[in-house]
Amino acid sequence: MAKTENAIWVVAQLENGETLGVTYELLGQARRLADTVGQNTAVVLIARENNGHAEKLIAQGADVVYTVLGEEYADYNVELYTNAICELAQEYKPNGIMFGATIDGRDLAPRVAARLKTGLCADCTEVEMGENGLLKWTRPALGGNLMGTIVCSDIRPQMGSVRPKIFAPMEPDSGRQGEVINYTVKNKVESKVEILKKEPLSTGGKLKIEDAEVICAGGRGFGDGERFKVLEDLAALFEKSAIAGSRAAVDEKWVDHASQVGQSGKTVAPKLYFACAVSGALQHVSGMKESEVIVAINKDENAPIFEVAHYGLVGDVHVVIPKLIEKIKAY
Ligand code: FAD
Repeated sequence: MAKTENAIWVVAQLENGETLGVTYELLGQARRLADTVGQNTAVVLIARENNGHAEKLIAQGADVVYTVLGEEYADYNVELYTNAICELAQEYKPNGIMFGATIDGRDLAPRVAARLKTGLCADCTEVEMGENGLLKWTRPALGGNLMGTIVCSDIRPQMGSVRPKIFAPMEPDSGRQGEVINYTVKNKVESKVEILKKEPLSTGGKLKIEDAEVICAGGRGFGDGERFKVLEDLAALFEKSAIAGSRAAVDEKWVDHASQVGQSGKTVAPKLYFACAVSGALQHVSGMKESEVIVAINKDENAPIFEVAHYGLVGDVHVVIPKLIEKIKAY
């Protein structure tokens, strides 16, 4: 089989000239899935210039990298990117295409799916390989109360967007062989979009939760914003730490939306996750359950958060957290 046929594709995402981690995570999973059925993996890289990205993608699992390069692709542009991906897909006919469920990916994937007249499993938390090269996409359904698994049996490409921090990337192997296909878009389109200004989502100048190794998350049980601030003292004890919140805490404006964990927020997998006065609703847990170590503090011993916690402290956060801070400082 030619390397370009029937492959599982990942659409690369770049920010400030760097390939985002989610690209490597999805590529790692695409590689693992493709290997089970003897398929290939490919990455679509749309950027101003290659700058070594394609080679790094090959080292981390791509058999083919399609590059679409040019000044007009320097910034994410939904019209130009959709046009390029659709043209490539019509020419090379992938089996499946994965996008990162980031802000840009959530914008781009449905447009590509509609243009290719296929479906889209959006915001997935798992992708597995079923029989006959059919991908099994799993995502929260019915307001996050159920996990649904979807198989697109008779449409190609099978498409989905998948959350960051779900899959592990492959270890880079600079000896891996792959092919770089420099693609020139044939039917160019004029963009009607003009970017006037770019503003990153505010995290108050602090580390983004997706980059933190220790996350101190709080929920509605804190009662008010002043008392929520004790999480800052807890976070200050660790390097690479950040404060996060449940949706209830975000709704109360105790923490920015950019720091919301869960189904309608972000998925994180830090080394250590403190869930303080968070009940453990499925919509919250789906965003943090892959954390290496979860410590839950809740005054209700039956709170669902204890089902996913590695360590549980039953007690009042206003009492337990200051004591915990004291103990850690003394350690
Ligand atoms: P609560 O459920 O009110 O829990 C507060 C907890 O604090 C309780 O367990 C209580 O026992 C404990 N507590 C109270 N006082 C104290 C104290 N002094 N000391 C210790 N413990 C105390 N939620 C998210 O978090 N993220 C999402 O992305 C998200 N997306 C959603 C998407 C949809 C479509 C829907 C329908 C819901 C979504 N939700 C999300 C909301 C979710 O269902 C819950 O309502 C929310 O997670 C509850 O937040 P909480 O745990 O802070 O508050």
